[in-house]
Amino acid sequence: MKTLITNGLVVNSTGTALADVLIDGETIAAVLAPGSQLLGFDVAANVDAVIDARGKYVIPGGIDAHTHMEMPFGGTSASDTFETGTRAAAWGGTTSIVDFVVQYAGENVIDQYTLWQAKAAGQCAIDYGFHQILSDVQDSSLVAMDELLKEGVSSFKLFMAYKGVFLSDDGQITKAMQKAASNGSMIMMHAENGSVIDLLVQQAIAAGNTSPYFHGTTRPWQAEEEATHRAIMLANLTGAPLYVVHVSAKQAVAQIATARDAGQNVFGETCPQYLYLSLEEQLAASSTEWGTFEGAKWVCSTPLRSREEGHQHHMWQSLRTNDIQMVSTDHCPFCMKGQKDMGLNDFSKIPNGIGSVEHRMDLLFQGVVDKQISLERWVEVTSTTPARMFGMYGKKGVIQPGADGDVVIYDPNGHTSIGFGEGRSHHMNMDYSAWEGFEIDGHVDTVISRGKVIVDDDRYLGTKGDGQYVPRGLSQYLI
Ligand SMILES: [Zn+2]
Repeated sequence: MKTLITNGLVVNSTGTALADVLIDGETIAAVLAPGSQLLGFDVAANVDAVIDARGKYVIPGGIDAHTHMEMPFGGTSASDTFETGTRAAAWGGTTSIVDFVVQYAGENVIDQYTLWQAKAAGQCAIDYGFHQILSDVQDSSLVAMDELLKEGVSSFKLFMAYKGVFLSDDGQITKAMQKAASNGSMIMMHAENGSVIDLLVQQAIAAGNTSPYFHGTTRPWQAEEEATHRAIMLANLTGAPLYVVHVSAKQAVAQIATARDAGQNVFGETCPQYLYLSLEEQLAASSTEWGTFEGAKWVCSTPLRSREEGHQHHMWQSLRTNDIQMVSTDHCPFCMKGQKDMGLNDFSKIPNGIGSVEHRMDLLFQGVVDKQISLERWVEVTSTTPARMFGMYGKKGVIQPGADGDVVIYDPNGHTSIGFGEGRSHHMNMDYSAWEGFEIDGHVDTVISRGKVIVDDDRYLGTKGDGQYVPRGLSQYLI
């Protein structure tokens, strides 16, 4: 199967060009001058399909490097399976995810990895890779870090919060970092001071402050900044590269920027919710259906920050200046009925997470429209950098000969209304949208995954199991 995408504006992170893109089988074969003449040879006449992308952007498929499909958490599981979550991702122009294998304290790392591979096999609409979560860092976990590297798992996530569930103490973190420094893998960090947060949560509940708003106030920016700084120091001590996930506080950004300016291999990720949503507007929301529990829809950790304090504005700025390098979703959806409502009388029992995997490309494109980031930077923070950060670049994250045929045709003159109801877009397996009512001045027209059109003109054309496992190399930002 040969497909030619004609007349589009090809957007890579390095620049734009009017060009035709030829996909042969699963791979991009050529990027040609428009008009598809090659030394007198009419390319368009010799392919199986021609897609006219006049007036549209032709971009590398989105890569969401932080998702939690069907993750077990707080006595329930994230409501999107690998099947439903990756299909929703495809709808939104994302053609690869990197999900997290969960190892809770006491479990064996390799057993869990095997389990997660089995969960995802044959289910996914788009390509997928895995990071490995390490909870208690046992001796066997250190051995597993070497073994998993051979399986294409080159990044390991640790937690400084969620005591008794995920939390690693500083000694355990240091041990895992020493291993990462020696085998070249990346340490990913959930950077919040868990002991401080646990205390503030206990005190809030005891004082009768049980609504979702207090989820935000009991996870203050100081707890994020402190943990971010501590993680940076331990990475500095051991020489491990460090990737801080879901950065939400401007003070944590400052810690990352300082370390980067000093030459340390430290990277930061933020998420759409920290660019758009806030403590005052969402966590403090109330409705007739849910009262002040409405805010549970946006309970995630790190929490939404205060707009009064200017975190959202600062986060966009950090994306422009490269103090923050990329945007993932931390997609971890839970329904209000039967899941989030476990915390009706106690916010600390609300499963933490927001569903966004479908909307990341659109939400960040709106940042282009609003002049927060450039067109090329949009591609960079949603596709190219995730590919480079996690060892997939060349195959993913770029439109060039030899790359996988993961291509999105995006219409800047189209429109997307997010949410439930007629004419609105929502395909994630949730009973609400955290993005209800958001209007996007753009539209995902066509999504091609390794040469196969899986979404076109608001129709899903893919099949369960189209997606393949992507073994990853080491981060391409490291020498
Ligand atoms: Zn996460």
